[in-house]
Amino acid sequence: MKTVVVGGGVIGLATAWRAAREGVSVTVIDPAPGSKASHASAGMLPGHSGQLYEQEELLRLCLASRDLYPSFIAELEEFAPAGFRRDGVLDVAFDEDALRDLDQQFAFQESLGIHAERLSPEECAKLQPAFGPVLAGVLMPDDGAVDPRILQPALITAIEALGGTVIRRGATRVEDHTVVLDNGDKVPFDRVVLAAGCWTHQIEGLPEGAIPEIRPVKGQILRLHSETPLLNLTSRALSTGGASLYLVPRLDGELVVGSTYEETGYDETVTAEGTQSLLTRVAKFIPGVGSLRFAEIGAGLRPASPDGLPVIGPTAVPDVYMASGHFRMGVQLTPITASIMASYLTDTTPHDSAPPFTPLRFS
Ligand code: FAD
Repeated sequence: MKTVVVGGGVIGLATAWRAAREGVSVTVIDPAPGSKASHASAGMLPGHSGQLYEQEELLRLCLASRDLYPSFIAELEEFAPAGFRRDGVLDVAFDEDALRDLDQQFAFQESLGIHAERLSPEECAKLQPAFGPVLAGVLMPDDGAVDPRILQPALITAIEALGGTVIRRGATRVEDHTVVLDNGDKVPFDRVVLAAGCWTHQIEGLPEGAIPEIRPVKGQILRLHSETPLLNLTSRALSTGGASLYLVPRLDGELVVGSTYEETGYDETVTAEGTQSLLTRVAKFIPGVGSLRFAEIGAGLRPASPDGLPVIGPTAVPDVYMASGHFRMGVQLTPITASIMASYLTDTTPHDSAPPFTPLRFS
């Protein structure tokens, strides 16, 4: 079976790798693999969060992905380092409202039997001495982060090592079991996976409505640098009034600070306002952050489906599949998405968390 994957972000690349591992012949088409939302992403892997209280199906998908991450990474690291760390995520409350949310989240985690530890301000200060005064924290020891700028090259290495191909061109349309490229070349397929992030529905040639529209939601994100890491653990600094931030330290001293949420269409510019908002918020949580070297301000477009949930599986068009719409959780949901897609592409039964995310719900 020859499968073509259109889009080489973290979702398309992981899908191609897992399918190649199952013996599928894969070709990835992307003008600049690994350069869009996945490149901007912090790669935080919280596993679960307060946002999921009322989204049981998404929570199940997240937990399934978290369970898969260690083996997914171990197998990938047979090819190249993948930039994964599973040394905990610390959520901290900086004000009373955030404390109420944190306690609600902790009770929810306990009710699900998820391993989480409630920490006093002193215990938080011991773990993250760089933080200003906090009211309380919750440590999730089994969670962590991955660096998508290491993960994606590793996926390309693994795909190519298994005989897959990456074509660095844009796809314009799908017709008669071929993908037409922007130079007019045609790439034949038995099956095609559309995984082009928020550009997925722009691929032409499919019947109207076969692919739901994927909306871009811009995120600006800051990268600072110090000789030794300022924070010990990936953290979410929780505060009211939209001031919360996530903070992802890398072992090389980089600190990723994210992010903004902006509905500004296909606009990937970085702005003074976005930068100022992130710097102001991070300085509130980490008083000493001003001495760090400014490394980068970047932006990416999160792919959001009409109902805000991932779209994974076969479409109503024979042999056309879709893997997109992962919104703010694409890196977190990479292993489970790739596993589900590899099952569909090898005609085996996908993980039981898959059915609610079928593209057919939009038909
Ligand atoms: P993308 O990474 O956008 O990849 C789409 C690919 O399709 C691109 O490589 C593009 O070149 C290609 N493409 C487009 N058009 C065509 C075409 N016509 N032909 C061929 N190829 C095409 N998620 C988390 O889990 N944890 C986080 O901490 C996190 N932080 C984030 C921070 C920011 C600032 C942003 C923006 C996102 C964050 N996300 C996070 C969300 C996550 O990054 C996305 O959900 C995920 O990267 C989506 O991956 P994707 O492969 O679907 O899309």
